[in-house]
Amino acid sequence: MTILDGKALAAKIKEETAKTTAALAAEGKRQPCLAVILVGEDPASQIYVRNKHNDCVTTGIKSLMHTLPKDITEDELLSLIDKLNADDTVDGILVQLPLPKHLNEEKVTERISVNKDVDAFSAANVGLITLGKAGFKPCTPAGIMRLLEEYGIDIKGKECVVVGRSNIVGKPMALLLLAAGGTVTVCHTKTADLSFHTKRADILIAAAGKADLIRGDMIKEGAVIVDVGMNRKDGKLCGDVNFEECVPKASYITPVPGGVGPMTRAMLLENTLTAYKFSK
Ligand code: NAD
Repeated sequence: MTILDGKALAAKIKEETAKTTAALAAEGKRQPCLAVILVGEDPASQIYVRNKHNDCVTTGIKSLMHTLPKDITEDELLSLIDKLNADDTVDGILVQLPLPKHLNEEKVTERISVNKDVDAFSAANVGLITLGKAGFKPCTPAGIMRLLEEYGIDIKGKECVVVGRSNIVGKPMALLLLAAGGTVTVCHTKTADLSFHTKRADILIAAAGKADLIRGDMIKEGAVIVDVGMNRKDGKLCGDVNFEECVPKASYITPVPGGVGPMTRAMLLENTLTAYKFSK
């Protein structure tokens, strides 16, 4: 059994990003720049945004933080996005979700220019992924694909089961696995017999947000297990997979923390570099 070490791979990707930005600086070129918008004071969002800022700073990406009051109007937020869209020195724009209830998340994320949409949540980017065309890939599924690739895990012809069908994880994950040649099943809350599907999986991606949803008797011998979940159990961070029960059967498994989470953060840096290339 091998641990899929997202923390180590993310550190490697950060080093490569830092080398890329240093080379740009040596050539006298503009620094890549990510603008992050945070509305309100949600403590979890504040931590996520601070981490993104620190990742940028340590890898030579310019980080523009826009912290806005929770009662900002939709028009004010949209006009800030318009300003950032028009600014040639800003490569990526990210609006931290969730937004306060009076703001329409779809309208706000759709306002970000497609070439600056580093979260890849817009309909245009989802469409490009569906068609298998270049563009941004959402950070969490892209990070998982990179992790599988790093460990030489072939997807072609494999039974891939994704548990979760959200727009930011489950659905794009299924599309990327399909594009890589997997035979993909997507399970969700309406799935009649979850373990019937998970037991068939050569590659199982758990992204439901339910601690201990995937038990040892629900997986196949030799399966690759990727745990996206971030839950709290007895005050401790845990995934959707019961790690102790699944380790003896899995061929590869991601830990929580240290698996998918760091890869998600690393992919945001890569998407910002991609946006920088789009701006040329
Ligand atoms: P979500 O709540 O939007 O979607 C959860 C999905 O899981 C839904 O489609 C639902 O149908 C399905 N689901 C829930 N319970 C189920 C069950 N009992 N059986 C089968 N399907 C079930 O959540 P999300 O935004 O997709 O995130 C999923 C989890 O991944 C959360 O724990 C979240 O915190 C975590 N997450 C982690 C990262 C990371 O970088 N590690 C990134 C994004 C999300």
